[in-house]
Amino acid sequence: MNARRVSKPIKIGRVTIGGNAPIVVQSMTNTDTRDVMSTIRQIEELEDCGCELIRVAVPDVEAARAISAIKKGISIPLIADIHFDYRLALMALEARADGLRLNPGNISDPEKVKAVVKEAKERSIPIRVGANAGSLPRTSDPKLTIAEQMVDAALQQIKLLESLDFDLIKVSLKAFDVPTTIAAYQSIASKIPYPLHIGITEAGPPRSGIIRSTVGIGTLLYLGIGDTIRVSLTAQPREEVIAGYEILKSLNLRQHGPILVSCPSCGRTEVDIVKLAEAVEAELLKIDKPIKVAVMGCVVNGPGEAKDADVGIACGKGRAVLFKKGKKLRTIQEKDFVSALMAEVERL
Ligand code: SF4
Repeated sequence: MNARRVSKPIKIGRVTIGGNAPIVVQSMTNTDTRDVMSTIRQIEELEDCGCELIRVAVPDVEAARAISAIKKGISIPLIADIHFDYRLALMALEARADGLRLNPGNISDPEKVKAVVKEAKERSIPIRVGANAGSLPRTSDPKLTIAEQMVDAALQQIKLLESLDFDLIKVSLKAFDVPTTIAAYQSIASKIPYPLHIGITEAGPPRSGIIRSTVGIGTLLYLGIGDTIRVSLTAQPREEVIAGYEILKSLNLRQHGPILVSCPSCGRTEVDIVKLAEAVEAELLKIDKPIKVAVMGCVVNGPGEAKDADVGIACGKGRAVLFKKGKKLRTIQEKDFVSALMAEVERL
């Protein structure tokens, strides 16, 4: 795995992005931002599963005005997502958003960008320059690849921000196509000092979207690129946060709650291991400890294959061996599989 790219840290509220700070997991609400109560409720649910930064869409004046009320009800920093109308960015700053996301593809008038940067600078509020493959500026050179056009669009806006003596910058270059996204981030990574927000845009519903996002985000992280991630799914945003942490845990980049080791089951299995693993996974979502828990389908290979687990069960017909760090604790009956395992988890 490559060493992490060195980036200039910025602060969004109390959360540091870049430098040596942990890679931050963020998500975006899918409630109507103007519906303050529903938006706060969703953000609270996201905070509970570990979301560290939240972005809300600001499509109109009412949504921009709602930001200050939403902020009063939440604990994590809030980023206002602005497209087309720079005045909404100014209103979001007024409403004390902790960060802004602007798309160079649809706020391209330098004078309008300047007005936003001036206000953001006064308040020390960072701006994400977020170029998307689907909304590139009309001035993009069609002879360039999509990845090159994304990099170009971002660099032009970064240059404008820098010319205004503004450096609280974060950059994203997202496409649905994974190789395009990877190429774009690899290209820009060596050209700018700013932290990178990485993700695959509109990745799809969970089954395909998590795979697509994991291949893209995982590859970039393995290359040392990326300071904050958003897994973009057609699903409830909490699924994005859970998937984000799973990606980071897979690469040993963050610890967050338990890791579940479960076998795929085979001809030796004598219990419904799929149902059991799902039940244990649901229980583990309530646990914060960074532990490893194993659910194995047989006593022949189970304990050995999961010997580095803190606690686990290896199931036989109607019974299972409960083990801790590879050592047998006792035999339990099928009706107690989940409760006995979870009791041992609580004891750790
Ligand atoms: S742990 Fe046992 S049941 Fe599970 S896949 Fe391995 S051999 Fe099969």
